[in-house]
Amino acid sequence: MTIHEQALKFIDAHSGEITAIAKSIWENPELGLKEFHASKLLAGELEKAGFSVDMGVADMPTAFVAEWGEGKPVIGILAEYDALPGLSQKISAVKDPIKVGAPGHGCGHNLFGAGSFGTVIAVKDYMEKNSVKGTLRLYGTPAEELGIGKPYMARAGLFDDLDAAITWHPMSLNMTMGNTNPGETSLLALNSFKVQFTGRAAHAAGNPQQGRSALKAIQLLDTGVQYMREHIPPQARIHSVITNGGGAPNVVPAFAEAWYFIRAPKRDMVNSIYAWIEDIIKGAALMTQTTYEIEFLSGLYELLGNKVLSLNLLENMKKVGDLKFSDEDKAFAREMIESVPPQMLQAVKQGFLTGVQPGTTAEEIGEYLNEKPLTPVWGLTGDMSGSTDVGDVSFITPTGQITATSLPLGIPLHSWQSTACSGSDIGFKSAVYAAKVMALTSLDLFTKPDLLQAAKDEFIKSTGGKKYVSPLPEGAKPH
Ligand SMILES: [Zn+2]
Repeated sequence: MTIHEQALKFIDAHSGEITAIAKSIWENPELGLKEFHASKLLAGELEKAGFSVDMGVADMPTAFVAEWGEGKPVIGILAEYDALPGLSQKISAVKDPIKVGAPGHGCGHNLFGAGSFGTVIAVKDYMEKNSVKGTLRLYGTPAEELGIGKPYMARAGLFDDLDAAITWHPMSLNMTMGNTNPGETSLLALNSFKVQFTGRAAHAAGNPQQGRSALKAIQLLDTGVQYMREHIPPQARIHSVITNGGGAPNVVPAFAEAWYFIRAPKRDMVNSIYAWIEDIIKGAALMTQTTYEIEFLSGLYELLGNKVLSLNLLENMKKVGDLKFSDEDKAFAREMIESVPPQMLQAVKQGFLTGVQPGTTAEEIGEYLNEKPLTPVWGLTGDMSGSTDVGDVSFITPTGQITATSLPLGIPLHSWQSTACSGSDIGFKSAVYAAKVMALTSLDLFTKPDLLQAAKDEFIKSTGGKKYVSPLPEGAKPH
C-alpha cells in the first residue's frame, strides 16, 4: 500500500469518529469564545489519540494547540468550531428552528473542526508507523465568525515556527480557495471596532439645552464616513450598525454605540481608512461636545494564496476522487433548493463558472450537489468579497486551503439551510472528504522536502521576506 492508500484507509476506518464529533458540535452550537463543549471535545479526542494539548492559549480559554512528534518540518492544520447567532435549525428543508433565536452552525464550523481532527489522526498514524520525522499540530482556533481567533493567536507567535499550514472550509463545491497567482491576494483585510460616545442626558423637551446627544455623534460619524467613501479605493467596504442609540425620544441619549467593519483588498488600505475614520470620530465628538472611546475588536489580513500548495491539494483531491452523495442526500438537496429563489441556483452556477476553469461542464459541476473536484481559474477572479482570519496565517507561513461540498449549489453559507446541511449526512461526508485531501497533502509535505521547499520559496517571493506585523493595536484583548 502507498502512503496515500494507507492514510485513506485509516480515515475510512475512523469516519465514524469524525462524524460523531461533527454531530456533537452541531448539537451543541456555541458562539465565538464560548466554544467550551467543542474545544474540550476536540482536545480530549486529540489527547486520546496521543497528542499533547495546550489549552487556553493567546488569552482565549477555548483556543488550543495540539501537537505530536518532534523536530522539523512543522506542519499545522487549522480547525474552527464556532457557531452563528440566530441560525438554530432542524435537519429539515423548511425553516424550523430547534430553538428560536439560538445559535446554529450556519457556516459548517462543526464540520471544519471534525474534518481537521480526521486529518491529524491519520497523518500521525502514518508517521508513527513509518518513523517519519517532524512535528504535526492541530490549531484549535475559536471565534472565526468574529474574526478573533487567529489574529490573536498570530500575535502570540503561535504560528511562527510553522513550515506550512493546511486548512479547509465547508462550501458548495470541491475546489481550492484563494486561487491567485503567486504574489496576488484575495478576500479582504478587515478591522472590526466599536465606537462609544458619551454625552449628557436631559429632558428632550423640558431642558434640551442642558443635554449633549451621544446619538447625534454617531449620526455625524456615519455622515462623515459617507462623505469619505468617494475618496477611498472603490473595492473597500465599510458597514456599520448602531448597537445602542438611546432609550426613548424624550431623553437626550447620554450613551450611544456603533459597530463598524472596514474591509479593503490590502492591509495597509484598511490601516489608512481606519486612521481617517478615527479623525471623523474625533470631529463628531467635537461637534457634539461629547467624548468617545474606541473598542478595537479585531484586525485581519487579506488572504495570500500559495499556488504550490493549491496545486498539490488539487492533485490530491483528484486522487481521493469524487465526494459521493447518496440518492437520499440528493433528494434532500433538491428539496432544499426549493427554499431559495430559482435565480439563486442559476446565479451561483454562473458565478462558479467564472471561478472554475473554462470548459468545465455542467455535469462536472453537478445538478444540486457538486461531487467532482473542480479546477479553478488562477488569478484575481470573483474572490474578493468576504474576509477570513486564515489571512493572518497566510502571511506568516505558506498556507493552502480547500473547500468541500457541504451544501447544495445555490444555498448560501450563514443561512438556516446551511445549518441544516451541516448537521446532515451531506455535511458529515464533506468533513471526511476534507480530512482525506488534507491528510494526503500533509503527508506529502512531511515526505517530499522539494515540495515543501517550493511552497516556502513561493511564500518568500510573495511576501518579499517581509515579516508579519500584527494588525492589532497595543492593548487589544480578545473579547
Ligand atoms: Zn466559516
